[in-house]
Amino acid sequence: MTGRLAVIGLGPGAPGLITPDAAAALAAAEALYGYGPYLDRVPPRAGQSRHPSDNRVEIDRARAALSAAAAGASVAMVSGGDPGVFAMAAAVCEAVEHGPPEWRALDLSVQPGITAMLALAARAGAPLGHDFCAMSLSDNLKPWPLVERRLAAAAGAGFAIALYNPISSARPWQLGAAFAILRNHLPAETPVLFGRAVARAAERVTVARLDGAEAVPADMATCVIVGSAETRVVERPGLPPLVYSPRSAGGA
Ligand code: SAH
Repeated sequence: MTGRLAVIGLGPGAPGLITPDAAAALAAAEALYGYGPYLDRVPPRAGQSRHPSDNRVEIDRARAALSAAAAGASVAMVSGGDPGVFAMAAAVCEAVEHGPPEWRALDLSVQPGITAMLALAARAGAPLGHDFCAMSLSDNLKPWPLVERRLAAAAGAGFAIALYNPISSARPWQLGAAFAILRNHLPAETPVLFGRAVARAAERVTVARLDGAEAVPADMATCVIVGSAETRVVERPGLPPLVYSPRSAGGA
């Protein structure tokens, strides 16, 4: 079997944040699969076919790419950020697990990318400088009560929390509900960082307090980092504040 599939992270947006390995794997592919807007970020190359798909059809997209690779093509599947963070690498693994046995023999690689929370954290200082976790607020693939339990456990355990998929037109209330839960476990002044379209032309980074966080607009292109009780905001003259989580924590 000569076909192969590379699952590629495109980073948050800026071309400079794509790894050289990911760029090389992209250039080597004959066929590109992915969610349309992500494919649009890849410069066209003669002889490379494109197979855009809709946002919600991840398993179908994974199967289509695997079938093309199994037929002998050199295929790339693109994801924004890192393909292993709420993205296509898990869908591809799932399709392989449940697919025909020959898919297990394919040359499959995953090219990591800079995920949204790391791009946002870098803009602000080091809000993820101590223990942290990442959660998707989407309840498309898990029940909302599980999200609530995890938020409470993570905040109660002292993790900074990166929130992906905070809100959408179909899910307008989840982010406010999440802040309400977090307020039960964290001080009112806990820093909350919002990064919209980080590393893209429309980037906007905002620092708020947990008790005022609902006033900051957020959408599907926003990543939110809620600090821990130890996360600090350092004001700077004429510059945006630094937000960081100290490297050490007390409270054994
Ligand atoms: N695989 C992607 C995440 C996909 S889930 C990654 O590793 O970044 C989609 C969510 O990612 C969005 O709802 C948003 O919360 C976040 N996101 C992706 N790109 C972003 C960017 N450039 N700026 C801010 N948030 C982003």
